[in-house]
Amino acid sequence: MPSQSAVPALKLNTGAEIPQLGFGVFQVPPEDTAETVRIALDAGYRSIDTAAAYGNEEGVGQAIADSGLDRDELFITTKLWNNDQGRQSALRACDASLERLGLDYVDLYLVHWPAPSQDLYVDTWRAFEEIHADGRARAIGVSNFQIAHLERLFDETEVVPALNQIELHPRLQQPELRDFHQEHGILTEAWSPLAQGELLDDRIVAEIAEAHGRTPAQVILRWHVETGNVVIPKSVTPERIRENIEVFDFELSSEETDRIAGLGSGDGRVGPHPESFGS
Ligand code: NDP
Repeated sequence: MPSQSAVPALKLNTGAEIPQLGFGVFQVPPEDTAETVRIALDAGYRSIDTAAAYGNEEGVGQAIADSGLDRDELFITTKLWNNDQGRQSALRACDASLERLGLDYVDLYLVHWPAPSQDLYVDTWRAFEEIHADGRARAIGVSNFQIAHLERLFDETEVVPALNQIELHPRLQQPELRDFHQEHGILTEAWSPLAQGELLDDRIVAEIAEAHGRTPAQVILRWHVETGNVVIPKSVTPERIRENIEVFDFELSSEETDRIAGLGSGDGRVGPHPESFGS
């Protein structure tokens, strides 16, 4: 089992640290979540990514309570769903998530989607600033925000998001957004880092995996780590949960990195486009 220290930490703009590799629980059935998260914690994961919309915050909370781990050993992220955008409803939604998780605070609270057609994300962010100031979230960030949405937050609010969680994998490498984040001290977190499994049959990935005696998933996760992304693979399969965290004891060559970079030529999105989602 990898020790916790095997997973490097990256610094948020609050000064706190986030493990570079965490465990995502999108589409983990609520009734299986506590057991699945328990397996992840046993495998060495300390960062868990859930959301109000996943319907499984209670299961995450149950696994945390059962783990016997100190709260400060864990990094817990949840997200505000689109129909709770707006200042008052965001404040209420945060309390409801904390209640379901059984926690006094989350380490990171994210606005799940900008939902531009609702035009509420600036008001929502003002509520997030309060949630941060009163300690209900140690850090606040966004998800699926494009450059224009971030610029609007910079112009109209005070706190710079600590992190933007976006769809990112070798078929959708998001170079512009990643550069923009770097310029503004925002960490990039990759969702669907394995393109929901679609990348695992890729010939180039398979060749690189074979050369290292690793699996395709490990090669892709290693690529994320070397790219500097925070990464949160999901699996409900115990073997895969354990395999996905074993990526800190090998390195890709620059030639292999270039071959993976070559996979990013088209729009390989597996999820919705942030401009049109969440009306
Ligand atoms: P991933 O890219 O993590 O892929 C998950 C899929 O890959 C599952 O079908 C899983 O199968 C399979 N898989 C995982 N590991 C392996 C492996 N080692 N070998 C073979 N197959 C594997 O997709 P997700 O969409 O779940 O993204 C990860 C996390 O990102 C989510 O859980 C969530 O926390 C976050 N997310 C955030 C979004 C946002 O809008 N902010 C949107 C989507 C995701 P199985 O489970 O059957 O083992």
